[in-house]
Amino acid sequence: MHHAATMTYLRAALTSLPMMLMTFIILSRGKLTHDPRHLFALVTTFYFLNTLFFLMVKTGRTDRWRAILFTVFAVAFVISFISHYVEARGSMALSESEILECRTPFCHIVIPMTIIPLALTRTIIFPGTMTGVYAAIASMFIIWIGASLSLGRGFCAWGCFLGGWDDGFSRIMKRPIIKSIAKKWHYLSFAVLLAVALTSAAMLSPTYCEWLCPYKAVTEYVQVTSLTRLVQMIIFMTLFAGLVVILPLLAKRRIQCGLFCPFGAFQSFTNKISPFEVRVDKNLCVKCRKCITVCPTFSMSEESLDKGKARMTCIKCGKCIDNCPKGALSFHIKGTSLGDDRTGQRLLFLYPAFLFLSTMAGGNIQSAIVRIIGLFTTGSLLTH
Ligand code: SF4
Ligand code: SF4
Repeated sequence: MHHAATMTYLRAALTSLPMMLMTFIILSRGKLTHDPRHLFALVTTFYFLNTLFFLMVKTGRTDRWRAILFTVFAVAFVISFISHYVEARGSMALSESEILECRTPFCHIVIPMTIIPLALTRTIIFPGTMTGVYAAIASMFIIWIGASLSLGRGFCAWGCFLGGWDDGFSRIMKRPIIKSIAKKWHYLSFAVLLAVALTSAAMLSPTYCEWLCPYKAVTEYVQVTSLTRLVQMIIFMTLFAGLVVILPLLAKRRIQCGLFCPFGAFQSFTNKISPFEVRVDKNLCVKCRKCITVCPTFSMSEESLDKGKARMTCIKCGKCIDNCPKGALSFHIKGTSLGDDRTGQRLLFLYPAFLFLSTMAGGNIQSAIVRIIGLFTTGSLLTH
């Protein structure tokens, strides 16, 4: 027994070695700093990421450890993003002149709104900068294309810097108070996608960002200089409270991501090109419905169980797999037989997925640690 446990540890440690090497290169960017605050942030982030990956490998559970990193990432992103912008322009609010000068940071949620106008007018209808700055349009597009080809909608569980907010709130209560949500609502995000894509094309401006994005409440927002701006601000705050905090708390689901986010709906189509999917082994499934109950994005249904795979909205978080009492669910590579080397297939998914999350989260977590140390030592989150 003792020998078996040692072997399990050893195997998990060896499997984690490539991740340790790759995360070290990503976090250090190939050079070691002598600044003690940055060094502390680097070492802490490195241990944090690799402990979680080791636990994923050793315990066979995915979502339990992923969610910790994903939520910490979302909070760290807001700390480092706001501090960065307050340093750069003295405020979290965007002024009208900064919008005119195209200095708005780009975010992947805008992508579905840019497609039709890009095809029609050959311009990106977003007041951002193409290259060479923080959150430039070109770099976000490159990250998005790479992630979509490999992970598909896995982006929403392994890359989005905002999704950790409703993911985190959906885990606080032990049991849901809202136990079920009518099926018709499961398609709401596709309706939002259609509406914002068409209105953005008609008005040649990103209407979701201007009117509906709940995350404006915790990132940058436009200065309130008119009644319209005031109404927009009230909408952002209300949507954040309702869709990101209260409903995820009560329903224990990712309501903003699962039912409202137009990028999430759009990203569902990229699941068609990703080589990875979540499959049900119908020989093992006893139809207990546990996976349907826990799925944060309503991507498991009776039909999924009959068809043997998750719906196209699946974000590949692994929560259903962690919770299935019969081990009937697994990460699966398309084109291979179901049941073929499940551990190997899971690892082939976990390496790119975890590395992507580490790449997206690592810099933000390090920056947030440096700023929090600064808060305790100098009384400010700003580094200058
Ligand atoms: S949790 Fe597992 S056994 Fe239960 S319905 Fe889902 S796949 Fe089947
Ligand atoms: S089907 Fe499973 S892996 Fe996909 S989103 Fe739902 S819980 Fe996550």
